[in-house]
Amino acid sequence: MAESHELVDGIAQHLTWIDGHWCGAASGRYLDSWDPSTGAVWARVPRCDGADVARATRAAHRAAVEGPWSVLRPTERGAWLRKLGQAIAADAERLAIAECRDNGKRLAEVRAQIASLPEYFDYFAGLADKFEGSVIPLNKPDTFNYTTWEPYGVVAAITAWNSPLALLTWKIAPALAAGNTVVIKPSEHASVSTLALMRSFEPVGLPAGVLNVVTGLGDEVGDPLVSDPLVSRISFTGSGAVGRKIAARAGELLKRVTLELGGKSAQVVFADADIEQALRGVVSGIFVSNGQSCVAGSRLLVQDELHDDFVGRLQAAIAKLTFGDPRLATTQIGPIANEPHFQRIQRDVAFALGEGARCVAGGRPVQVAGGGWYFAPTVLVDVTPAMRIAQQEVFGPVLAVMRFKDEQHAVQLANDSDLGLAAGVWTRDISRAFRLSKQIQAGTVYVNTYRGVAPQSPCGGYKQSGWGRENGIEAMREFLQHKSVWIGLGDMPEPFPPS
Ligand code: NAD
Repeated sequence: MAESHELVDGIAQHLTWIDGHWCGAASGRYLDSWDPSTGAVWARVPRCDGADVARATRAAHRAAVEGPWSVLRPTERGAWLRKLGQAIAADAERLAIAECRDNGKRLAEVRAQIASLPEYFDYFAGLADKFEGSVIPLNKPDTFNYTTWEPYGVVAAITAWNSPLALLTWKIAPALAAGNTVVIKPSEHASVSTLALMRSFEPVGLPAGVLNVVTGLGDEVGDPLVSDPLVSRISFTGSGAVGRKIAARAGELLKRVTLELGGKSAQVVFADADIEQALRGVVSGIFVSNGQSCVAGSRLLVQDELHDDFVGRLQAAIAKLTFGDPRLATTQIGPIANEPHFQRIQRDVAFALGEGARCVAGGRPVQVAGGGWYFAPTVLVDVTPAMRIAQQEVFGPVLAVMRFKDEQHAVQLANDSDLGLAAGVWTRDISRAFRLSKQIQAGTVYVNTYRGVAPQSPCGGYKQSGWGRENGIEAMREFLQHKSVWIGLGDMPEPFPPS
């Protein structure tokens, strides 16, 4: 195997993976990647541009249109996917360490996430040969009509920095199973684990061009990729602001796009809930991963009579948390993933205080030996729905708390948002649980649990949290087009029969 990186002044300088080869950017330029636990540069990745994008899409197009990917039987594609899953399992620790170093997520959590990824490849491998067409009983004589499912060709997979390998798996496993080839654009803030994944896949010997990676900046790589005429399907995970830009560009070009965007998910805690379970769910929903999770439960709605007690329990639970190096088993709170984001979180908290929210925990950066970008788990009370902190995603460890009177009020507050990714409901009343799960406008509603994700279950947003779904059978449909075939079994009728 060729080397995928070299050490330059003690820093790993990576190559990217295009058309079955390791290569640098055509321009020869690199981007720095920082270790959030120290604030120091730890790696460099190629700073690709339109020239590299064109090379990657040509390779992907060749593999998609001329083969070999397009000529494989679905069962054979499934077999390749299982091998990719096995390659992840075999290399899981190296991948976890790369991702933890790159985005600062706790190693224990990254390990658990990566351990789950082979299951996604297995699930979509199993679906590769299950997409059956139908024979349609037309009300027409001598005509046979059937439908088939066909891939798009080249898919652009654009991902965010918070869980690069999980977000990528949710795209490439169904896209490949459906028969597409893929050009991947990871976040400029955390590209190394995606390159490490290509290294893990190398021994599998996937045909050249089936998977390609172009690292670099959004405007230099993401935009040319979306615009490239050889790309016919786009799958994006990231912010609403960039999602809007991509949707606008895709609209001009009339390309289909899946958008997995941000959330301001409500956790609704009723006074009749199992309070200890609800507390665990709320703490884990916002403070595990530092709130840098798309389904972060960043709005807490608590029933009036429980409010003060619950906030007190929250304060006590987070006061005990330990900060530190995300690789250490003793660390409970790691760093914020990158410096611009660390600064943004501080600005958002300051703005919320200016709007009248009251900080009862955290609200400030934390100094940790070794440097890095640490921020204390933050609880803001006296929040009202009109405040920006109640409406806009922070994507950080900041919980905005509001009170509600009764069930109707809880539903009204939960739905008072342009976003609708997820919600949590905590109650012992099963009828109420059913009512709320129906009334809350979100793509996922959790009842007496939070944050679960599984290959079999679709996830995605209502309202401005996105378009389309990842995972589950629906994810395959995102990457397939439905074709209707008509076969005439008799004579064509006279075009202009004599009247
Ligand atoms: P971001 O939108 O800044 O960047 C996402 C990706 O888009 C990056 O790879 C970036 O380089 C690329 N990009 C930027 N400009 C582009 C352009 N003009 N054309 C094409 N690509 C472009 O988001 P982020 O800061 O990396 O991630 C955080 C956001 O992601 C949060 O809002 C979070 O909620 C969201 N997210 C959503 C889900 C989900 O499943 N719904 C999952 C994880 C993260």
